[in-house]
Amino acid sequence: MVERNADVAKMGRNYLFHEIAKRKKALLEKEPGTRLINLGIGDTTEPIPPSVVEAMREAASRLGSKKTYTGYGETHGKWLLREKISEVIYNSKVSPDEIFISDGAKCDVGRMQLLFSRNVPVALQDPVYPAYMGASVLSGKTGGAQDGGSYEGIHYLPCTPENGFTPDVTTLPPGTLLYLCSPNNPTGTVLTRDQLTRLVHFARENRCFLLFDSAYAAFIQSEELPRSIYEIEGAQEVAIETSSFSKRIGFTGVRLGWSVVPHKLTFADGSSVWKDWSTLTSTLFNEASNIAQAGGIAALEKEGLASQRKLIAFYLENARLLREALSPLPCYGGEHAPFLWLPLRSKSSWETFETLLEKAKIVTTPGVGFGPSGEGFIRISAFASRSDIHKASTLLQHILLQKADVEVFKNREQQRT
Ligand code: PLP
Repeated sequence: MVERNADVAKMGRNYLFHEIAKRKKALLEKEPGTRLINLGIGDTTEPIPPSVVEAMREAASRLGSKKTYTGYGETHGKWLLREKISEVIYNSKVSPDEIFISDGAKCDVGRMQLLFSRNVPVALQDPVYPAYMGASVLSGKTGGAQDGGSYEGIHYLPCTPENGFTPDVTTLPPGTLLYLCSPNNPTGTVLTRDQLTRLVHFARENRCFLLFDSAYAAFIQSEELPRSIYEIEGAQEVAIETSSFSKRIGFTGVRLGWSVVPHKLTFADGSSVWKDWSTLTSTLFNEASNIAQAGGIAALEKEGLASQRKLIAFYLENARLLREALSPLPCYGGEHAPFLWLPLRSKSSWETFETLLEKAKIVTTPGVGFGPSGEGFIRISAFASRSDIHKASTLLQHILLQKADVEVFKNREQQRT
């Protein structure tokens, strides 16, 4: 028999989403026909705008004619799309040649592991999008699994209200690979220009790499807040940015993203990261779907961008309504991101998840699923229909805004900040 990959064995099951699905199923078995309001998942709910759908329809039609049919395309993605991303998203701060089109940010986070030696230390914001941890474990960059879902050998950097959700990197060993997610999933908070500048300086001084995930950048509403790591001087020598069309234009099912690998980025031995990424992607990946890329190009044209702003405004209004409904409680995120991060009276995020599921039929995500420092919080997603947001707001108010609770919350948050 063939030997199993021991790194996959370390992963165990995806405890968080498996457990959520199990609890939803149990409730539906107990109370058949119940309609749940899903504020648990980070999936978009609004349709893709017409100009983008039309571009994809045309691209599909071209495939149906002998004259216009095309097969494999340009290895790193359509040049026009790379040019558009460079101009529209990066203000030409990175060149089209440094942009590699992908089938999504999650897929690139996985493939990117192959760039780095198994011995590279890994550091994560805690809490954060679980895929970084999963990809690191699967690529053998850690020791064994520990209790509570955290892994030996990974540096968990608590990001809490007390430290303004900024990771303290001062104790990291030189040569660490540090994942940064801003706007952050799950906290909905954004790293400021100063915070990001300090992180870039640290990386430069300590020969670390930053893997910056800007999947939610389009939700940022303030010019003061950086939408890309490359807005920070010197970042091109220490950072890869990975990003996505998923949340900005509803492409979670279509699948389209990109990574920026600057020419200036080099490994410890002085060799080019761009060259290795080029080798890796052309070996393991055969370009993103040509239909999806046609949609991506349309999304970055005038009409597509206007629709994108409307979509984002819709989700941010959802977030505002939820924040307003919960307003006596301290609540983070929701202003430049589609997630609210709510501190809890009870220390257990699973307990609150269960109460909301049982009493309000609302699905949320327990904070602990995003890392040990997520305990004591729940994530509420603003990706939902407006009518569900109105219903959920009333129900959440009813359950979470007990008078005594509000006092407990307020006192605790005052001590915290
Ligand atoms: N990055 C973050 C921070 C996410 O929250 C998600 C999805 O929830 C992704 C990446 C996945 O992006 P994609 O759909 O492009 O794979």
